[in-house]
Amino acid sequence: MSEQKKDEKPKISFRRTVSNNLFMLKLLHKASPGRIAIEMGLWALEAVIGFFSWQYMLRHIVNGIEQGKGFSDLAALLVAMTVLNVVLVLVQQLWYQIFSGFYYQKTAKYFQELVYKKAASVDLACYENPDFYDKYMKALNETVSRADGVASSCSMMVFETVRFAANAALLFAIDPVFLLFLLIPLLSSIFIKKQKKADFEKYEQTVAMNRRCDYTRRTYYLGDYAKEMRLSNIYRVMAKRFATAIKDTKAVIRKYGFKCALYGYLIEIFREVFTFLGATVYAVYQTLVTGNILYGDCLVIINALTTLSWSITGSADTLFRFQEHALYIENFRFFLDYEPKIRDRETVLPMKKGDLVLENVSFRYDGAEEDTLKNIHITCGEKEKIALVGHNGAGKSTLVKLMLRLYDPTDGRITLGGEDIRDYSVKEYRESFSAVFQDFHVFSLSVSENVLLRPMREGDEAIVETALQKSGAATRVSEMPEGTDSILTREFDKNGTVLSGGETQKLAIAHAFTKENAFVILDEPTSALDPIAEYEMYKNMTEACENCGMIFISHRLSSAVMADRIYMLENGEVIEVGTHGELMAKNGKYADMFRKQAENYVALGVSLS
Ligand code: ADP
Repeated sequence: MSEQKKDEKPKISFRRTVSNNLFMLKLLHKASPGRIAIEMGLWALEAVIGFFSWQYMLRHIVNGIEQGKGFSDLAALLVAMTVLNVVLVLVQQLWYQIFSGFYYQKTAKYFQELVYKKAASVDLACYENPDFYDKYMKALNETVSRADGVASSCSMMVFETVRFAANAALLFAIDPVFLLFLLIPLLSSIFIKKQKKADFEKYEQTVAMNRRCDYTRRTYYLGDYAKEMRLSNIYRVMAKRFATAIKDTKAVIRKYGFKCALYGYLIEIFREVFTFLGATVYAVYQTLVTGNILYGDCLVIINALTTLSWSITGSADTLFRFQEHALYIENFRFFLDYEPKIRDRETVLPMKKGDLVLENVSFRYDGAEEDTLKNIHITCGEKEKIALVGHNGAGKSTLVKLMLRLYDPTDGRITLGGEDIRDYSVKEYRESFSAVFQDFHVFSLSVSENVLLRPMREGDEAIVETALQKSGAATRVSEMPEGTDSILTREFDKNGTVLSGGETQKLAIAHAFTKENAFVILDEPTSALDPIAEYEMYKNMTEACENCGMIFISHRLSSAVMADRIYMLENGEVIEVGTHGELMAKNGKYADMFRKQAENYVALGVSLS
């Protein structure tokens, strides 16, 4: 978090506070209709029954005793109160142990789906923006508990209002002077407000540090990092980062700790000591010295005052809690309101087939100082096989991201079938591609689900088998105990299969063989395969893609030999174009690169001419 951000005080207007809480209430109503009404009703009931059980009954019993009443005079009241409480406890237990759990799960499902759906639609660029990412993490971590918090706060408000009204009416009936004592806890509200604000600032300032700690923790326990953590000293760097984050967190606690403790102390003193002691002294005086009130009245006055002081601070606390909710909901709304830059136009064209053409395309990443791609012209015919080659950092992967419309060009345009791809529906356009990336992640699911990357349907077995055959993974899968039903990774299944890097890539590539696409894009998914396996895979892929276009990036140029056209990139520009033969004859940078790798191809019998 930047220094400037650290010093910013979170502010939210009253209007926005109300609007945010109402917004959340509306969503809560959609998530689990009826929940808030039931919860509020239960709390109102608890306040009413609590009042009658403790105040009304106590007053009648003690005053009755003082006035010489017998047990039979009070029996009906005692029975009625007992029955009411027995019923209330039963209803509460049923609600808290069963129904509220169901409602909570319903709410959690609704909100998580909302956040995940949105997360899937935001631009890829957002994940590279730390501010956005922080807000996203907050939305993800906080939303369900905040939704629940808004529901609880509404119920608390009802509870406090009902018990306040009942106790205030009682005091007024006995001696209105006692109502003056209620002003004392009001003073503590000032400190509650300050305490809540400090709490929020503290939280805001620790989010980024918690994220850093979390990242370090993940590098310690996730398998992805296990080898590097053991074989290098990177863990020291991570440990240092962790220690710094902890140190920064401690500094925040130091900055806000004393402030929060002081406010907490003042709140308690006003609420507990001044109100309670002041009223008790006055009540005892009125009972023993002036004799204006009965013993029972004296008792319930002290009780009522304590309850009222709790009720006032409880209400103030709940009001501030609404304000606190509003601040978090603001993050959530920001996230939900985010309009992806890459989205459908008002009217979209029906998908067409045809050539994929990049016309004078330039692209610059947000915040970058220069263009990553400059004036690129590339054509991939409907059934052509195109290879993108070049050294690391040349811009090949960026080019692929543009082709898949994960980013839009800064300049120039991309067309498919002669139409600008921005005129198509993003979803339909992306569906016309099958893309496999180098950093494919295996899911803790069955082999089939990993290959299909969607739920299984009838007849899928044959598709999976063929795809595995073509990608070269069939033999390995047949050795697994449950074939294509075998679970990958050992995260949830101790008998799960852990694949090697090469095997994982073959599985990832199998996905590209599962459906008919206009284009297949392979962004270096073969780096962990040996040259022969890679050659075989590309041969199979070329055959399988007889009727579709194919764009592939590979470090090893043995596969480029099969391409109808090769584009050699350097520093974001196309520097050479042609078939393998043409580029070798040209004797430029491609030929140079190819010759340097030549010894690897001898075994494959690839001609260098
Ligand atoms: P290649 O695939 O040829 O290795 P890339 O397309 O991955 O090259 O990267 C091209 C250039 O763009 C590199 O200089 C890289 O640092 C930069 N780059 C890649 N991704 C991003 C990003 N998300 N934000 C900023 N710069 C990026």
